[in-house]
Amino acid sequence: MPDQQHTIGSAPPGRQAANERRPAASSDTAPAERKQAGRVGFIGLGHMGIAMATNLARNGWQVIGLVRRPELREELSRLGLEPSIDISDLFDCPIVITMLPDDRAVRDVVLGRNGLSRGLKRGAVHLSMSTISTAAATEMAAEHARAGQGYVAAPVFGNPDAAKARELFVIAAGAAADIERCQPIFDVLGQRTFVVGPDSATANLIKLAGNAMTATTVEMLGETLALARKRGIDPEGFLDIMTATMFGSRVHRIYGAKIAAQRYAPGGFVFPLALKDVRLALAEAEAAGVPMPSVGVVRDRLIAGMARGYGTLDWSALGLLAAEEAGLGPETRPTGTSPSNQNT
Ligand code: NAD
Repeated sequence: MPDQQHTIGSAPPGRQAANERRPAASSDTAPAERKQAGRVGFIGLGHMGIAMATNLARNGWQVIGLVRRPELREELSRLGLEPSIDISDLFDCPIVITMLPDDRAVRDVVLGRNGLSRGLKRGAVHLSMSTISTAAATEMAAEHARAGQGYVAAPVFGNPDAAKARELFVIAAGAAADIERCQPIFDVLGQRTFVVGPDSATANLIKLAGNAMTATTVEMLGETLALARKRGIDPEGFLDIMTATMFGSRVHRIYGAKIAAQRYAPGGFVFPLALKDVRLALAEAEAAGVPMPSVGVVRDRLIAGMARGYGTLDWSALGLLAAEEAGLGPETRPTGTSPSNQNT
């Protein structure tokens, strides 16, 4: 029998069943339940992080949120968080979550002069939920181990709407005891946790491979929906047939609906972050000697989108690019700006 630590699987069925059937995020948690949860630090209160931290606070966790723009403190307090502009205020938390954009931000926060690896207490856990490279994950795990701290890699599948609704999927890797300590957090944030072993790089590689699949799927949705529109087929009717027959995945349903409705809203998963993930996936593939030509196409599409000024749009706007390439004008144009909390 393989050791549980080396088995890719999901959390124990009892816990998972309870987790899958939970109601959506609520603020009416019983006071007794509130007292049972712990204290947790949160760094990276952007599109994803703000929803995740708010759900933790609503479910009894005392959340100390690092904020770089002091003017946002009031807004965060209203959401039930305890905002601080000083990272040292998070150092006595037994668990600190990071939900940062990329490798560089995670390195800054962990290895910087006043970084987590120096500041956290021995035995504390850095729960790293950002999508980062496998190399960065391995480096962070080693740094924390040197300081006597734990590191759990737990990137997630699901967009900010899924984060709000506590419907994320968590891919967790790290020492079994550390994952066990983080499980109550996963239970609040997501609908299911997959434990993939002790090596943090594994979780990040799985997440990057998943995002490569999403990227090519969104691109294909854009292309086929452009064809439907151009040939006079109702895009929503077309999508209904596809999702009810051979293509019923969350990606097809969620992103297909946005593209069919030409709802290319700002926020969500913006082009620069999507490009970051596609590039990381391609780098992993290249290092392994695995060509991924279709993913390379999406990389170029994302670069094109940014060059056209779509850098603040959700990556469903790959559908906008496909429509433009087909000579179709958007019937509805993207409007507005990203939510104010994007750059906390
Ligand atoms: P975001 O840009 O909206 O949020 C990142 C936050 O981190 C911002 O508030 C920013 O101010 C803060 N930040 C950046 N550098 C910092 C630093 N050095 N110190 C402290 N705070 C810092 O990004 P997001 O969309 O919330 O994504 C966060 C992570 O989650 C990324 O790794 C992304 O790839 C991943 N992810 C995103 C989605 C999505 O749909 N948006 C889905 C799954 C995973």
